[in-house]
Amino acid sequence: MKILVLNCGSSSIKYQFIDTENRVALAKGMVERIGMSSAVLTHQPLNKEKIRIVGEILDHSIAIEYVIAVLLSPNHGVIKDKKEIDAVGHRVVHGGETFSGSVLITDQVMNALKDNIELAPLHNPPNIKGIQATKDHLPATPQCGVFDTAFHVKMPPRAYLYGIPYELYKKYKIRRYGFHGTSHRYVSERAAALIGRPIEELRIVTAHLGNGCSMAAVDHGKSVDTTMGFTPLEGLIMGTRSGDMDPSVILYIMAKEGLSLSEANTLLNKHSGLIGISGESSDMREIESAIAEGNKKAKYAFDVFTYKIKKYVGAYAAAMGGLDMLVFTGGIGENSTLVRKDVCANMEFLGIKYDENLNNNVLDECEITAPDSKVKVLRIPTNEELVIALDTEQIVNEQLTPEQVK
Ligand code: ADP
Repeated sequence: MKILVLNCGSSSIKYQFIDTENRVALAKGMVERIGMSSAVLTHQPLNKEKIRIVGEILDHSIAIEYVIAVLLSPNHGVIKDKKEIDAVGHRVVHGGETFSGSVLITDQVMNALKDNIELAPLHNPPNIKGIQATKDHLPATPQCGVFDTAFHVKMPPRAYLYGIPYELYKKYKIRRYGFHGTSHRYVSERAAALIGRPIEELRIVTAHLGNGCSMAAVDHGKSVDTTMGFTPLEGLIMGTRSGDMDPSVILYIMAKEGLSLSEANTLLNKHSGLIGISGESSDMREIESAIAEGNKKAKYAFDVFTYKIKKYVGAYAAAMGGLDMLVFTGGIGENSTLVRKDVCANMEFLGIKYDENLNNNVLDECEITAPDSKVKVLRIPTNEELVIALDTEQIVNEQLTPEQVK
């Protein structure tokens, strides 16, 4: 099947056009600055040069029209007729407690998505706009939703409840949801396949470290805990997000600095984490360069970052009663030799026998632990778009109900 995978944000749409049979993206690209007269579409067909188009793209509907047009373009396109788009798969950020798997988008599903807007006010509205716009341009094409939260939604109550009055959970659905589920699911499955053991007998910790960072405890194939919570702010420190901290800290800062709710939100989500501590950058490559130049605050940021990851490896090993694999993915997890090294250092007590040479020479999907290491540590490049395409294909082929799709 040929599936158009869309990730619709408030002012951007990322897309990949995937041939599921060969598991390859025939084209990928992005529309940025939607809503402006100088919006930009970048498009890269497989094995061809990247092109860039600047134009007035005032809303998501026009953006999707552009994406379809460039896929059909005689010079840069990869299809001759719209009908070659067999289905469209959308990344949807928040499925709340409603969705524990991917779904065919129906009117009922759209209503449920709208009900979840309050839980993800920044992300779900553009996801919904993208689905509506796709329906306008491809009315006969089936669309599916694949949720960031779905993999985690069946965590046990002990992992998802906060220590606040239970009524608040019932009243406002305040609980831990977790995100990056598509990535955690994909890399844990790939890791099990790589070492040739069924995922149903493994205890795996996955670390998705990109601009946003989260970890998951994947016990016998199921997510039983994850570091992000009600929102993506909880857990590890990230490029610009604070991660876990004493909730009183924010009340104190708000009082001291006279911050409004929205200013406090911006402080925690945009000016904290690596950028907040280092004062230099939210980008791990730049943090590592600054450390090499002797920048002390960059080193603090790096150390807080890796120390938190190390602590969660221990916590999740305890939660699962042991550990068989640790998996690194995301831009940092896949590419930062130093982060992987720091996390794996002094972990022999847990059964991790890390191999410096393997860690320095990673390629594609690979192990970075010695052959006799009890716990295998792996680097697995994530591919969320492929998961979205494969889920979409499965649903369209079989018209599955959500419960049947993992
Ligand atoms: P997103 O979460 O937006 O998808 P990515 O997964 O691409 O982001 O991750 C971006 C992060 O990966 C940035 O912090 C970037 O510095 C880091 N990164 C990419 N390449 C390297 C590298 N070679 N060494 C260290 N960090 C890297």
